[in-house]
Amino acid sequence: MLIDNHGRKINYLRLAVTDRCNLRCFYCMPEEGLNWLSRTELMTYEEMIRSCAVLVKMGVEKIRITGGEPFVRKDIMQLLTSISGLNGLKELTLTTNGVLTAPYIADLKSLGVKSVNLSLDTLDANRFFTITRRDEFANVMATLDGLLNHNIDVKINTVIMEGKNIDDIIPLVELTKDIPVSVRFIEEMPFNGNSHNYSSLHWDYVHILEKIRTRFPDIEKLVDPPNSTSYNYHIPGHKGSIGIIAAYSRTFCGTCNRIRITPQGQLKNCLYDDGVLNIRDIIRNGATNEQLESQLLSAFSHRVKDGWEAEHNRFLKTGVHESMATIGG
Ligand code: SAM
Ligand code: SF4
Repeated sequence: MLIDNHGRKINYLRLAVTDRCNLRCFYCMPEEGLNWLSRTELMTYEEMIRSCAVLVKMGVEKIRITGGEPFVRKDIMQLLTSISGLNGLKELTLTTNGVLTAPYIADLKSLGVKSVNLSLDTLDANRFFTITRRDEFANVMATLDGLLNHNIDVKINTVIMEGKNIDDIIPLVELTKDIPVSVRFIEEMPFNGNSHNYSSLHWDYVHILEKIRTRFPDIEKLVDPPNSTSYNYHIPGHKGSIGIIAAYSRTFCGTCNRIRITPQGQLKNCLYDDGVLNIRDIIRNGATNEQLESQLLSAFSHRVKDGWEAEHNRFLKTGVHESMATIGG
């Protein structure tokens, strides 16, 4: 079992497999995209599989594949197949924007993927275009249908933005009436790759809940699972549930069990740090698995207490303006 210097168990890895994306979500990256990483900067699949194997041996039980958009990376199913076969891994899951995902759903199911996070910020096709700057709403909805038809648990990720999708909060809650999905409202974070100026958070978890209560005063609090980043709720009579993720307010750091690897192999101990170790370079410099493991252990014994400490350390150096596509969410 992996325990950090604050006594927190680490058992969950988020692996971002590319920085590239076929959408341009307003809160994530600028309209013209990012300065994409070159092929040699990206970790290869072999490097990713080896890193995952070492981490699973050390105690990681759950891996989430994310990006950028995982399905824009060539032969992504090969990577998923290899990772799904790692001895000791209990759960493989992914986060996707759903644009290219539908044709892969049956294969995901046969690999044992039981749940998928689908990003969907609105139920209105025009607003979808305004937020993502791409006309792909129908494909995302087809992915939602496909996942439900294959009995894969769906968590819908919705970033709440002043002036963009406040009118979607109630319709998205209403979606949980007949469909067994978990709709999770996420506070907007500053990781937008300089898409726009982020000065302060307008919609925090308290305001999001207040807004839901105006229409659903009988909303009930659920018991949050251990290590949950969301406050979870249920509307009586609804098949699905609601989550609110205080991603900016950072109320969940005390039980943080997750680490991240960026597309270029940076290990992040915290969403808000700027990377503590480059795994790709360690591997390319010829390290054995034992040497990699020992460097990882050292990194895990120096984790920051919370996202505020990480952000403080970082602001002293560079500030926070990278895109979430280079972190993975
Ligand atoms: N492209 C995939 C997708 O959108 O689902 C996976 C990568 S995306 C970076 C992962 C998650 O990060 C998405 O659910 C997205 O909504 C969320 N995200 C991106 N930028 C964010 C921001 N500035 N604040 C909060 N969440 C953000
Ligand atoms: Fe792409 Fe996901 Fe970022 Fe949207 S949130 S631009 S879909 S990486």
